[in-house]
Amino acid sequence: MARQQLPAAALVARRVVALGAVILAAACATVETTESGVVGVDRRQTMSALVSEEDINRGAQEAYAQVLAEARAKGVLNRDPAQTARVRTISQRLIAQTPVFRPDAQKWAWEVNVIDVKEINAWCMPGGKIAVYTGMIERLQLTDSELAAVIGHEIAHALREHGRERASRAVTQGLVLGVLGAATGVGQGGVDLAQLALEVTTNLPNSRGQEVEADRIGVELAARAGYDPRAAVTLWQKMDQAASGGPPAFLSTHPASEARQRDVAAYAEKVMPLYHARR
Ligand SMILES: [Zn+2]
Repeated sequence: MARQQLPAAALVARRVVALGAVILAAACATVETTESGVVGVDRRQTMSALVSEEDINRGAQEAYAQVLAEARAKGVLNRDPAQTARVRTISQRLIAQTPVFRPDAQKWAWEVNVIDVKEINAWCMPGGKIAVYTGMIERLQLTDSELAAVIGHEIAHALREHGRERASRAVTQGLVLGVLGAATGVGQGGVDLAQLALEVTTNLPNSRGQEVEADRIGVELAARAGYDPRAAVTLWQKMDQAASGGPPAFLSTHPASEARQRDVAAYAEKVMPLYHARR
């Protein structure tokens, strides 16, 4: 009796899994998050309908508020007013150029804050929540243009919705718990959206392809904002040097390879006319 039931049960289980896979696959759509710009970034992206832009942005907003609250409690949030003003001024000039890639970005609730820790790191959560760590600025002794290069790179990840793209992949592969049973979307599926947003921003590494896109859009944003785009080359050289003394966390997700430096240099040249037009 038991021997007859087992295969049947296994078959049902297999059908359920297959059905789940069909539902997840059907819920995917290819989209273009940004205009291609002078740098020509035009890869079509696959997004799961289960992870909406609204959901991931809401999660990011919550996660960002938590990060800021923790930093405030430790007394490391925006400690140096001059440094905070510098980072915000550069960021605002870059943000002002984002409509070139996606017009809706000017309506985003952008936020820019500096966290006073030694770690070499910077990120932009989905929806435009930026954090720059003082370790990045001070240990690499970044010029304004180099700072614009790193912030422009992070803004580009947000414009391209790379975080949502990675979350989509994780959901489609069933890596996010609670989603298979609730094909209505992560927002209703008992998934911690803030945790998901934090995870895709600070832990799940970008793919090499996403990194290339962020580099290229980043140099265009910098050039359009009036910052020398060639500073992206010296930025990655400085990263490379910093890596020799034990790789910082940022470099594990942003390898400063020679290929990267060559690509950034080529695209910086390509957008030089935009920079000259601003001077
Ligand atoms: Zn990156």
